[in-house]
Amino acid sequence: MLKTALVFVIGLLLGANLVYFFMAGRPQPATSTPSAEPVAAPAAKQPPGGAARPATKSSTPNRDASPTASARGGALLIPVQGIRAEQLSDTYGDARGSDRSHNAMDIMAPTGTPVLAVSDGRLAKIFDSKAGGLTLYQFDPSETYNYYYAHLDRYAEGLTEGQMLRRGQVIGYVGSTGNANPAAPHLHFAVYRLGPEKRWHEGAPINPYPLLRG
Ligand SMILES: [Zn+2]
Repeated sequence: MLKTALVFVIGLLLGANLVYFFMAGRPQPATSTPSAEPVAAPAAKQPPGGAARPATKSSTPNRDASPTASARGGALLIPVQGIRAEQLSDTYGDARGSDRSHNAMDIMAPTGTPVLAVSDGRLAKIFDSKAGGLTLYQFDPSETYNYYYAHLDRYAEGLTEGQMLRRGQVIGYVGSTGNANPAAPHLHFAVYRLGPEKRWHEGAPINPYPLLRG
């Protein structure tokens, strides 16, 4: 079915090219014909909208060669089931207390909503902290970045430190453990660039918003 549709689209493109070719009055047939082929072929293989994205990605290859590059699809998965990109808000710079900023993202969702791993990678630490409540730290596959999930109501069953998580795997459930307001359950999600020693509790925060929003 899909294949038939693709063939049809390619046929249309080639047909349009031919019509253009004849209407334009033979603009150097030797160069125009071969150049039409490579353009039509990759465009037909990509999903709708796929063609526009690599262009913006490749314009910032150095700044972006990081959590984004290591995750399939060029961005991190939104870690709360059922939440769409448009529902996210950038709370990274919000004040928390008088002398520090949030340096993370809060994703509001009802208690018990599944929390999903944003990428593949090792489960570095399961930790119950005063502020974060039930938390989980996951390294990205290159072990350059650390993904932090906090205020979980509970963990998924059978999780063990050191195990490899898969992108999209349920790792826990949204809650309000730690210092979260019980009336406003949410996932507190942060991204840290790991230091040279790759310790789960050390790292420089990075705003997760653009990584999730794309
Ligand atoms: Zn938070």
